[in-house]
Amino acid sequence: MAYYLAVLILIRLTGGLMLERKGDQRMNFAQLTGQDDAALIQFDGYFLHPDAVDDWSSLQFNATQAGFDLAIASAYRSFSRQLLIWNEKATGIRPVYDGKGQPLPVDTLSPTDLVFAILRWSALPGGSRHHWGTDLDVYDRSAVADDYVVQLNDEEVQPGGVFAALHDWLDQRIENQQSFGFYRPYITTALSQSEKPMGIAAERWHLSHRPSAGLFSQELTRDALYRVIESQPEMQLQSTVLAHLDEIFTRFINASAIG
Ligand SMILES: [Zn+2]
Repeated sequence: MAYYLAVLILIRLTGGLMLERKGDQRMNFAQLTGQDDAALIQFDGYFLHPDAVDDWSSLQFNATQAGFDLAIASAYRSFSRQLLIWNEKATGIRPVYDGKGQPLPVDTLSPTDLVFAILRWSALPGGSRHHWGTDLDVYDRSAVADDYVVQLNDEEVQPGGVFAALHDWLDQRIENQQSFGFYRPYITTALSQSEKPMGIAAERWHLSHRPSAGLFSQELTRDALYRVIESQPEMQLQSTVLAHLDEIFTRFINASAIG
């Protein structure tokens, strides 16, 4: 009995179970799910994982030499931020869009339909790659006016879009393994190679730093996600999410972790 008590106290004191990382970096459950940003460092006004900073700087420098101004539109997002977005969509404060970008009548959808409609454009709190500081949404600042509001939509990054040239250059760097560990985790697996001559990938603006994101994506299991959602009584649609977590995990989380 005394032994178990001692172990419990030890776990309390050390802030929970620490997950070993390669080298001397350590990662805990709170970091995995966006609830602890203490290990992140500020760069260019954004929070990044320390292991990703040097590689990001190198990629930015190379982009400058190629005539682009590779900039961050979004990096780390906390669990509480993602939860706020989720709850505002679930309650109709923020619009929920269909696949064509048209607003949906939220109050007429079943809870299940609403969950999957939100997931079409928003990450599940706890399940976002943006919780890790390893993933960035990027754009070319030199391609637009100073007052341009970055949309992060397909129109900007597809052929003819304002940021298409940057992304073509990034594609080349990634393919030639000259992207300092950055890659596109949201590849469109549904398309065959022959259908991808334009190099269009889902969320083409989203880059991930594989050396630092790799362990996070391994640790973010279905059970880890269940644990974090279950611990959030203020989360809207919580029971519906938990009831469908297997499908949500397979379709929206694990699929992106493979790339
Ligand atoms: Zn993103």
